[in-house]
Amino acid sequence: MTELKDRYDRKHTYLRISVTDRCNLRCLYCMPEEGMTFMDQESLLTYDQIAEVVDTAAGFGISKLRITGGEPLVRPGIAGLIAKLKSIRGIEEISLTTNGLLLGPQAAALKLAGLDRVNISLDTLDSARFRFIARRGRLDKVLEGIEAAAEAGLGPIKLNCVLLKGVNEDEIGRFLRLSAEKPLHVRFIEYMPIGHDDAGWRDHYLPLTRIAEEADRLGLSYEPLPEGPAGNGPSENYRIVGGAGSFGLIHPVSNHFCASCNRLRLTAEGDLKPCLYWVDELSVRPALGSPEAMRELFMKAMRIKPENHEMAALLAGDAQSHVPTGRRMSQIGGVGGE
Ligand code: SAM
Ligand code: SF4
Repeated sequence: MTELKDRYDRKHTYLRISVTDRCNLRCLYCMPEEGMTFMDQESLLTYDQIAEVVDTAAGFGISKLRITGGEPLVRPGIAGLIAKLKSIRGIEEISLTTNGLLLGPQAAALKLAGLDRVNISLDTLDSARFRFIARRGRLDKVLEGIEAAAEAGLGPIKLNCVLLKGVNEDEIGRFLRLSAEKPLHVRFIEYMPIGHDDAGWRDHYLPLTRIAEEADRLGLSYEPLPEGPAGNGPSENYRIVGGAGSFGLIHPVSNHFCASCNRLRLTAEGDLKPCLYWVDELSVRPALGSPEAMRELFMKAMRIKPENHEMAALLAGDAQSHVPTGRRMSQIGGVGGE
């Protein structure tokens, strides 16, 4: 089998698939509160077209998929898509990243369809603050979603928590304790400058060195977890000594993990993105119906994949070598907790 290796000898085994840019929340680090415009249904890849792309990807050794968005569960029929993708030879694991609001009633059906694991976004354990960050929806629905996922066997369950200066940094201790008390894997994620005005990002960006400082201040001892729970990805993992779960740090800005990048992204309208940060993307549409053209597209993605994303240069005020994407995170599929 031909492997997908780029110019830096990185082997690619993982595809993140965004199935919609729509969402039932408006998280302040991801979208504006008002005025978002979304793609028409006709602009989205159909589930059969997504399966066609995955079929080629699997032929190159891509074995892990993540379904994301926007909010993937607002698109009807996600369980059907998962069943279709799971039946493709070579696909070993499918996970889903969701805000959890619609997960409660769907968790069992998703598991039955072949979903292996979920990442659920949770930035606060306080209901009023949830409304401040997500601007819509309800925390209790997300907590119900987490419980339903655990009952359905969609673990290990990872919670994606974007750390925001002056917004939720006072909850680090609460999240650390949660990871000790329950078999939940909290993934603290650095706020990334994607789809934002620069000043707004700088005001709320917080490096994840804050986590260790807070654990020390609270007297919580922790130990590194070299293996971590299944599907480790770019997270650096720890456990509160004796804890039931774990916590991890995903610091794409202060300490990027590009050297071990093993992933490609497919946007909802069908663009293959070699790197989440830069503008370069390749439409799969002209290649639909031609396995040969689709294979060539994946190989081209390997040829143009950049070495790293240079978000730290932005933080330092230095020039960048490429053009950053104009997409919002909801139009890319996000990061976190693979
Ligand atoms: N709607 C789903 C959700 O929120 O889990 C899936 C899509 S969302 C874009 C995927 C992940 O990206 C979420 O965990 C979210 O917290 C994270 N994310 C969004 N904007 C971000 C940003 N500017 N910096 C860091 N993470 C971000
Ligand atoms: Fe929606 Fe996820 Fe973006 Fe929040 S992070 S607005 S839930 S896509």
